[in-house]
Amino acid sequence: MKVGIVGAGMVGSAAGYALALTGTVSRVVLVDLDAALARAQAEDIAHAVPFASSTVIEHGDYPALAGASVVILAAGVGQKPGETRLALLARNAAVFREVTARVLEHAPDAILLVASNPVDVMTQITTRLTGLPPERVIGSGTILDTARFRSLLGRHLGISPRSVHAYVLGEHGDSEVLAWSSARAGSAPLASFAAQVGAPITGHVRDAIDDGVRNAAYTIIAGKGATWYGIGAGLSRIVRAIAQDQNAVLSVSIATQDVLGVRDVALSLPRIVGAAGVTAHLMPDLADDEAAALMKSAQLLKDTADAVCL
Ligand code: ADP
Repeated sequence: MKVGIVGAGMVGSAAGYALALTGTVSRVVLVDLDAALARAQAEDIAHAVPFASSTVIEHGDYPALAGASVVILAAGVGQKPGETRLALLARNAAVFREVTARVLEHAPDAILLVASNPVDVMTQITTRLTGLPPERVIGSGTILDTARFRSLLGRHLGISPRSVHAYVLGEHGDSEVLAWSSARAGSAPLASFAAQVGAPITGHVRDAIDDGVRNAAYTIIAGKGATWYGIGAGLSRIVRAIAQDQNAVLSVSIATQDVLGVRDVALSLPRIVGAAGVTAHLMPDLADDEAAALMKSAQLLKDTADAVCL
């Protein structure tokens, strides 16, 4: 399978690197406004490939995306001093208007995988701009927050994160909701498992994990300016679910008709991801406070997306 990546900055190139090292797909093409950057990133990643897989890494302009089954959209512009979040969003929407038109010109059947932030709003905008069915416009959403939640819970319980089933819902950002009430470890409800292994989820533990998930990006940004490896691997995970038609349940963002009464909003829920993109979503059982927080997150995202002039 061929995957295109538009935007060969830190996030786009990290996704290409993760795809190459895992050998998830046969071919990756990097495209960027800065052609020299796309070339340099592709060559650098290509030098890693002989140690890991046989993925072909290329660079090129939009026509090189022909035949791509998935195109990752990681292009974007940075915030100017004094620029509001909404003004930045409008500029990124303009970038996406141009980019998506050119992508679909050459790869009309591709699933679009949105990585640019704020990812939920960019996913909603991309769906509106392209008119594609929502199942073909997938935002990375809370895939990373969910991984972080599982990893911190796994560490507390002394088990592999892969044996923890828990999701972060809503916005990839401040209003995200950790679905504690539906979390399970092995086959047991979280509290029961925690009690059996002598590692109860006290208020202190819960606050520390919540804080660790919610503020992970801020901590990394304080140390290195931005985040890229985690999201690169998360994007690669989503592509693997599509490439192998896994029907894996992943927390990703797509425009959704109705989320607890909020209509037409892109946010993360556990969703089934396979070759056709997202084929279904699942609403976990939520405690009242979690449902209220998810509704609030949905409304906030909808208001922001609606405020962007397209
Ligand atoms: P991030 O950390 O999110 O990856 P970067 O600034 O490193 O952010 O990368 C964003 C990339 O998007 C840059 O390499 C930039 O050249 C690219 N880009 C910006 N506008 C466009 C566009 N219109 N078409 C293609 N690439 C673009």
